[in-house]
Amino acid sequence: MSDYDLIVIGGGSGGLVAAVGAAHLGARVALVEKKALGGDCLFTGCVPSKALIASARFAADVRRASDFGFAQTSLQFSGDNFASITARYCQVNVKNK
Ligand SMILES: Cc1cc2nc3c(=O)[nH]c(=O)nc-3n(C[C@H](O)[C@H](O)[C@H](O)COP(=O)(O)OP(=O)(O)OC[C@H]3O[C@@H](n4cnc5c(N)ncnc54)[C@H](O)[C@@H]3O)c2cc1C
Repeated sequence: MSDYDLIVIGGGSGGLVAAVGAAHLGARVALVEKKALGGDCLFTGCVPSKALIASARFAADVRRASDFGFAQTSLQFSGDNFASITARYCQVNVKNK
């Protein structure tokens, strides 16, 4: 008799959904992940890209400050380079862990 009904290889979006869904149906599930749970979506895809888009949208809105009745102001990266933006999405991921 085997220990598991299902062995899922990969803990990305697909693997997590398959494993959790099968477990909810009563299956004995093993999930094997070689790096970190979350896969592309969490570490390089959905979450980081949306964090970058949010920063870009914010900068675009600030550029249009006068259209919304505010004095025009300039916006600079903290630390004077783009690393502050990538650091933000790393923080977004840490908060989600
Ligand atoms: C820039 C970008 C933005 C995106 N934005 C969105 C979005 O807004 N909305 C959306 O729905 N989708 C988005 N996607 C797509 C989304 O990231 C993928 O559809 C999703 O990550 C696919 O999940 P997956 O589980 O199939 O694969 P993956 O996320 O690649 O997960 C596979 C997992 O398997 C593990 N693995 C691989 N080989 C082995 C092994 N031999 N043993 C153990 N583990 C292994 C890997 O380490 C990884 O954790 C985006 C993708 C990109 C690149």
